[in-house]
Amino acid sequence: AVPLLSVQDLTMTFPGRRSVTGRRGAPVRAVDGVSFDLAAGQTLGLVGESGCGKSTTGRMLVRLLEPTSGRVAFEGKDISRLSQGAMRPLRKGIQMVFQDPHSSLNPRQTVARIISDPLLVQGWSAGDARRRAAELMELVGLIPEHIDRYPHEFSGGQAQRIGIARSLSTSPRLIVADEPVSALDVSVQAQIVNLMERLRAELGLAYVFIAHDLSVVKRVSDRVAVMYLGRIVEIGDKKSLYENPQHPYTRALLSAVPLPDPAAERRRERIVLLGDPPSPAAPPPGCTFHPRCPKAQPLCRTERPLLRPAAAREVACHFPGD
Ligand code: SF4
Ligand code: MG
Repeated sequence: AVPLLSVQDLTMTFPGRRSVTGRRGAPVRAVDGVSFDLAAGQTLGLVGESGCGKSTTGRMLVRLLEPTSGRVAFEGKDISRLSQGAMRPLRKGIQMVFQDPHSSLNPRQTVARIISDPLLVQGWSAGDARRRAAELMELVGLIPEHIDRYPHEFSGGQAQRIGIARSLSTSPRLIVADEPVSALDVSVQAQIVNLMERLRAELGLAYVFIAHDLSVVKRVSDRVAVMYLGRIVEIGDKKSLYENPQHPYTRALLSAVPLPDPAAERRRERIVLLGDPPSPAAPPPGCTFHPRCPKAQPLCRTERPLLRPAAAREVACHFPGD
């Protein structure tokens, strides 16, 4: 069967910034050869530190950004080069939820207008779109009588429910959620993750769920991809990746996920990475993770490891495993 979403060798290169002297810096490869498939009704968690290219990847998946090269096929159709006009009928099937709900909602529009906007673009009548908006408010746990209120009258968690309702308006098959809970209070994060998980089960949605740590995506993901400096360094099904991470970077990210059992939490070793991720404008040679990797060998400084099968998943490391 054709996968819902098929991503092949996706790359995004931004022109270098101009310095004060007017010289242009080297081009920055923000996303470098990302490939994966996603089946209908499944969730891929896409995880990495800020600046690793996960948001840029997300924006290419929904054709808000045109990739420099590579291909994004939705239900078998390549959308990566479509114009915004040609993309319009396909927008029904692919929607996005953004990180900061308040800044992604127009403060001068009522909730009715915000949620029905994608429907009006698709040619719905104002009355039908408003009725659908009220239904969607109920579906995401908002009070439909609040339909004529403005975003500032809602809390952060409620505002994200509005963003989710908007993304659901056209009955999409795929939602790309770019850190949908990172801007919310910790106490609210689990509620929104649980809501998204319930909606997925009820509506048969697929998600690409972007997050900067592995704890947030654990509940919702079927598979997880870990990104570092524009590349996927490990991708596999959730269970094997969490139980037996193969890439040293995945192991470090996982060691920061709190364990529910306090005794296990006390025994567990924390892997603390040295320094910040390097700039994508000047990636280190060989394995780009080598300056921070506790397992780095001389080979790692010269040879770039490619993604290849290891322990029932794919890993880009010369020395995967323990
Ligand atoms: Fe570490 Fe070498 Fe593996 Fe890179 S290739 S993650 S430096 S062990
Ligand atoms: Mg981001």
